[in-house]
Amino acid sequence: MSWRCHGQNYAELVSNLQKHGILSSPEAAAAMSKIDRKLFVPEGGLPYDDAPQVIGFGATISAPHMHGYCLSMLADHLKPGMSVLDVGSGSGYLTAVFALMVGETGWTVGVEHIPELVDHSIVAIKQTPAGSLLDNGHLNIYVADGKLGYAERGPYDAIHVGAAAAELPDALVNQLKPNGRMVIPVGTSSQDLIIVDKLEDGSIRKTVKMGVRYVPLV
Ligand code: SAH
Repeated sequence: MSWRCHGQNYAELVSNLQKHGILSSPEAAAAMSKIDRKLFVPEGGLPYDDAPQVIGFGATISAPHMHGYCLSMLADHLKPGMSVLDVGSGSGYLTAVFALMVGETGWTVGVEHIPELVDHSIVAIKQTPAGSLLDNGHLNIYVADGKLGYAERGPYDAIHVGAAAAELPDALVNQLKPNGRMVIPVGTSSQDLIIVDKLEDGSIRKTVKMGVRYVPLV
């Protein structure tokens, strides 16, 4: 079911993700609707297919159903004014959706280790309604090793990791606020998407959501 959300156009893709119960947050759906995936997929790709697309440098923009699942799991931690970190921001598509959700009073940080991808993502985001957040400094994308997070701008209400870590990186857990939530694929040959909740007292609760296939966090 999760791979059947293809659309003839972007509105249809987003609507199919909602119909299949993947994109269950109305706020996430509203933000996603404003960031056309076509701007983040190279010429010749299939932006409205529910499948990953090659973006160069060994990276892919994840499948829309994975973006939908991750947005739904994080939606309560992406309220206006909150802080979010997107590790392995790649195309910048999901980073832009996060930025619209936390808005002008929030803070969005993307971290990606390939400089060309950071450049491309900034060019693409400038063509979307999230572009103004780049201009006013509430959205920043840095070239850095995402395993270390981005402590200078933390701690964060929400952390999304777009590449699979062999083990849960301590630095990222440390950069979560109390009541914060991280969604991260963990594993090597087989991977699980894990929700990491930091409770009020600072303790950690992990919930395994589903088996997944992501490119490795190197
Ligand atoms: N959410 C992104 C996913 C891109 S694929 C999207 O949908 O566009 C995963 C990305 O993680 C790749 O761009 C890859 O270059 C990046 N990556 C892998 N290891 C990394 C690391 N240690 N630090 C930062 N980025 C990393």
